[in-house]
Amino acid sequence: MTEVFKGEFTQQEPIPDEGIEAALKVLKSGRLHRYNLVGGEPGEVSLLEREFAAYTGARYALAVASGGYAMATALRAIGVRPGDKVLTNAFTLAPVPGAIASVCAVPVFVGVTEDLTIDLEDLAAKADQADVLMLSHMRSHICDMECLMAICDAAGITVIEDCAHTMGAAWKGHASGRWGKIGCYSTQTYKHMNSGEGGFLVTDDDEVAARAIVLSGSYMLYGRNGTVPPAEVFERVKYDTPNVSGRMDHLRAAILRPQLRALDAQCEKWNARYRVVEDGLRGTPGLRVVERPAAETIVGSSIQFLLLDWTEAAVSEVLKRCFDRGVELKWFGGAEPSGFTSRYDSWRYAPSVRMPASDRILRGIVDMRLPLTFSLEDCAQIARIIRGEVGAVFQAQT
Ligand SMILES: *Cc1c(COP(=O)(O)O)cnc(C)c1O
Repeated sequence: MTEVFKGEFTQQEPIPDEGIEAALKVLKSGRLHRYNLVGGEPGEVSLLEREFAAYTGARYALAVASGGYAMATALRAIGVRPGDKVLTNAFTLAPVPGAIASVCAVPVFVGVTEDLTIDLEDLAAKADQADVLMLSHMRSHICDMECLMAICDAAGITVIEDCAHTMGAAWKGHASGRWGKIGCYSTQTYKHMNSGEGGFLVTDDDEVAARAIVLSGSYMLYGRNGTVPPAEVFERVKYDTPNVSGRMDHLRAAILRPQLRALDAQCEKWNARYRVVEDGLRGTPGLRVVERPAAETIVGSSIQFLLLDWTEAAVSEVLKRCFDRGVELKWFGGAEPSGFTSRYDSWRYAPSVRMPASDRILRGIVDMRLPLTFSLEDCAQIARIIRGEVGAVFQAQT
């Protein structure tokens, strides 16, 4: 009696009723655009910005059309020019090098460690190559942020954090997104809040905030945004900052506001699921669990494990066997980009130098989403299936 998992790895929870009601209200009003307001109403987008700024503790928050848009806007707001180099993680997803390429800058990839965080030694070695680091907290793994900031501060590197997977996470109690100059977040369907597409940028910097607000398409209505730097800052930037419309609309903001109120409780639910899978996998022969440091406040919306130094054929066999039993695993070692997953050398618009130590790790990373529609029982079953199949393939290998 081999058990088969019946759940759907792509099934998110429904939008909360409160969000649906707020969305209907926006639809009935006909006023969907960010600056389409009547009387003194602040509008859903500005309210959401204030609430997100309060949640992260940032002075300014800007709600935008996607996480990728937030990252590209961050790069422009700090003055990255075509041809400039931008350090970033080799282990990340396509929107990250994509945002860098969208401003005609050039990614310089930094390696990954067995803890699945950025390789700080490699970062230090490459620190003289660029003035900006787009740090991707990929799959919610946070590196030693004090050490990273010390390296970047010493080298005069401005840090932008990609928090697509760390909304709600922290290092030593200090929120991810609040270490660097700018934090960028995504509210794409598979992230920690769901508006289909969407994102945020947060910062404490007056000038960065003003530039980002003008970039996002404020025309000269920036005073209506949720969190607004002093007027004289706009006077300095408004004539030479282009309009590249991409702020969020009221409909998406309306469905996000109740989700933000529930975010911390949701993070706890993810972590409970994560710990069940982690416990179930620990001790599986041939499989390395990625141990999470005590300094890290995690959000376990996905889980990774390593099949280090396995052959391609054996990893493929594990994926196939698990898939046949209803468990969808993603592999970062595949030579061809597939689904959401790709490897740094697949981004051919971004030149890269081979990094053998990182390649060894990337070849071993297996990744799985943990949607909140899965129960704790489901998670225990998934772990049993993976454990069984990894164990069987490992035994046949040795
Ligand atoms: C989803 C994601 C983003 C942002 O993507 P958008 O789809 O543009 O919101 C950024 N970085 C990573 C690692 C992501 O997974």
